[in-house]
Amino acid sequence: MTPSANASARAEGPAKRLVLLGATGSIGKSCARVILDNPGRFCVEAVVGGRDGAALARTAIELGAKFAAIADPAGYADLKAGLTGRAVETACGAQAMQAAARWPADLVVSAIVGAVGLGPTYAAIECGRVIALANKETLVCAGAPVMLGVLRHGATLLPLDSEHNAIFQALGGRDVAEVACMTITASGGPFREWSAENIAKATPAEALAHPKWSMGPKISVDSASLMNKGLELIEAHHLFAIAAEKLAVVVHPQSVVHGMIAFADGSTLAGLANPDMRTAVAHCLAYPQRVRSGVAAPDLIALSRLTFEPADLDRFPALRLAREALAEGAGAPTALNAANEIAVAAFLDGKIAFGALAGIVGRTLEAMRAAGEIETPADIDEALAIHHVARDRAASLLA
Ligand code: NAD
Ligand code: MG
Repeated sequence: MTPSANASARAEGPAKRLVLLGATGSIGKSCARVILDNPGRFCVEAVVGGRDGAALARTAIELGAKFAAIADPAGYADLKAGLTGRAVETACGAQAMQAAARWPADLVVSAIVGAVGLGPTYAAIECGRVIALANKETLVCAGAPVMLGVLRHGATLLPLDSEHNAIFQALGGRDVAEVACMTITASGGPFREWSAENIAKATPAEALAHPKWSMGPKISVDSASLMNKGLELIEAHHLFAIAAEKLAVVVHPQSVVHGMIAFADGSTLAGLANPDMRTAVAHCLAYPQRVRSGVAAPDLIALSRLTFEPADLDRFPALRLAREALAEGAGAPTALNAANEIAVAAFLDGKIAFGALAGIVGRTLEAMRAAGEIETPADIDEALAIHHVARDRAASLLA
């Protein structure tokens, strides 16, 4: 889409101005597809990427962005080279990400991976923006301070994570006090039917081979360990202000039902969609309107059978650790997330076995409890301080 097509107004109103944080990733690419599928509906103002400057330059050109910011200065030369002769402003580093997050916009997509996405996401919150939140680590790292910031600055969080998006739609603005149980589904990941012994020996390639979803490497490993579901429980607790005891996980290998709400009278509303993030992306980008996502609605006759089973906390101890951290509260989810980020990176680097992931997270939490280091973070800075202590403790366990 050219910038001029980008800016054209349509019957639906002026094009919605977007900022894409994490534009070059899996979610970023899903956003690009939906944007390009709906000419004139969206106008991409700014894009942010991690370290691949050439990829970010291509994305900026494809989407007609006015500003491209790259986190890692090492990728800046490639970004500038890729945009030579183009009227796209460029910058690098943490300040550049902040500038992009604060760029005037109608919606900011938060799709950087990891707690490093907290800073730019919180900058958008401080500007009172509407934020389509894919980056779940933001709420796991600093749930209470982030939600307080949302209230204080009049920002809005639209859940982009598919389970939370389904629940948000099923809830339809009703009071969460009416909810008896909120269920998020898990595909079960690539190791759903594997023995504990084989899971422990799984390679990065095996962990990245997700049966239903195509995603970035970190969330793919989290999906294989079921830590992703644990992070999502914590995310749901903050997003919907729902008590931990009312949150449930069900394994559903077809990944067609994403979330369910049971009300006091037993009525249950579920959100269904084919497993393709463009559905949730389109819902968030166009909200409260609807646009084409490029994804067909589920064909129940073709699917013929939807199955559900409990999650096995013995073979997938990461989910147990996350549930415990959610129940414990205070800084426990912050520490859990930070230790998990270190452990997943080490696993992807071939430094530890898949079976060591949960142990590193569990031992980090134990050490921090013993040292009195997981007190309730009063604000974002305190959450980040706990995050960094946990990262250091987890890193020391790798040796
Ligand atoms: P990805 O690895 O494909 O992309 C991550 C993006 O973040 C890229 O644009 C990358 O350049 C950028 N990035 C990485 N490190 C960075 C840094 N230090 N500073 C700034 N930017 C950096 O990841 P993804 O699968 O797109 O996931 C993004 C987020 O969305 C994650 O938090 C994930 O949990 C969440 N999410 C993803 C999916 C999915 O289907 N992929 C679904 C639900 C939620
Ligand atoms: Mg999800």
